[in-house]
Amino acid sequence: MTTLAPQADAPHKLAELNPPKRLLFGPGPTQVHPRIYEVMSKPIVGHLDPFFFQVTTEIRDLLQPVFGTQNPFTIAISGTGSAGMEAAVSNFVESGSKVAVFANGYFADRISEMARRQDGHVVRFEKPWGEVYSDSEAVEFIRRERPQVVAYVTAETSTGAFQKGKAICDAAHEIDAVVIADCVTSLGAMPVEVDKTGIDVAYSCSQKGLSCPPGLSPITVSPRALSHLKSRKTVNHSWYLDLTLLADYYEGAHRYHHTAPITLFYALREALNLVAEEGLDQRLQRHYRNHKRLVKGLEEMRLRMHVPEQHRIWNLNTPLVPEGVNDANVRARLLKDQGIEIAGGFGPLAGKVFRIGIMGPLATEEKVDFFLQEFRKALAAEGYKPH
Ligand SMILES: *Cc1c(COP(=O)(O)O)cnc(C)c1O
Repeated sequence: MTTLAPQADAPHKLAELNPPKRLLFGPGPTQVHPRIYEVMSKPIVGHLDPFFFQVTTEIRDLLQPVFGTQNPFTIAISGTGSAGMEAAVSNFVESGSKVAVFANGYFADRISEMARRQDGHVVRFEKPWGEVYSDSEAVEFIRRERPQVVAYVTAETSTGAFQKGKAICDAAHEIDAVVIADCVTSLGAMPVEVDKTGIDVAYSCSQKGLSCPPGLSPITVSPRALSHLKSRKTVNHSWYLDLTLLADYYEGAHRYHHTAPITLFYALREALNLVAEEGLDQRLQRHYRNHKRLVKGLEEMRLRMHVPEQHRIWNLNTPLVPEGVNDANVRARLLKDQGIEIAGGFGPLAGKVFRIGIMGPLATEEKVDFFLQEFRKALAAEGYKPH
């Protein structure tokens, strides 16, 4: 006979969720400050509540200086960094638009793919992963191709290389093209300087340089780009990422568009609050100092860096895997022994580099020194002899 009485230890009841303790030294998500977890446990309000729009206004006011922009159109899109990328591409690439992509890594490939899916005509300036473009070759490419849209990645997380943007933006503006810059890893850890550089559309994510949980994608759009948007001939194929609809929700009539993930907005507000409290310059300098400290420590172990000194991303470091060492074993050992997460290379750099993130709460001397000590041990255990 069956019984309907509840079982004291019903089999479907799981144990309390207990995530392992991790030190997130990878490319992202990065370590989250305890104050961000605290605000994430606060009660939500509705997505049309005046309090929510107060939060989104505060986020805009705090994001502008981090992006280095005065653009009134500065919001956080509900979605990860790829949503920001797709918003940038789908709004500014129409069927038949010529899109020039500086293609020196995985994320530039992703931009190219998104542009093709908008029926854009993609032309690529390809370089090996880890190299960057000089001013003159960037200008020459843009003048030759005369595209409507130019896209480049500031901090190419797949390689560790940082691309400067001023020459790209100047050349693009000569021919009235819109410049899209991927700032996913750089924002909050390296200078982005949207206005000074001349970037028209910059997008990022919450979980890398800003050290917040994943789920939001800050984006800023110049008035110039907005006027291009107004003169689109066709409607955006994407409804969810249509910036004119999003503007109506966040900035204009507060018309319902989608149910924004309120908790993540609380988190981003607190992450930006932490940046403001520390001071943006101090925060960037802290990442720079600790990048130098990490590289010095790696070089003392006789490791070589994949990217030349002047082109390195501060918060994402790519030492080469030494001869005879299996990088996956080193990473597995670090995770198992110390709860330290780092990443390996992929694509053409698979098995060739480690990718080590030094971001947010982990960009301190103490954490870097601890990492170096454990990395040294893990390499030694996998047979590496530095001398
Ligand atoms: C991580 C990353 C993305 C994609 O962001 P997601 O949050 O993973 O969607 C895009 N561009 C760059 C440079 C990145 O590092």
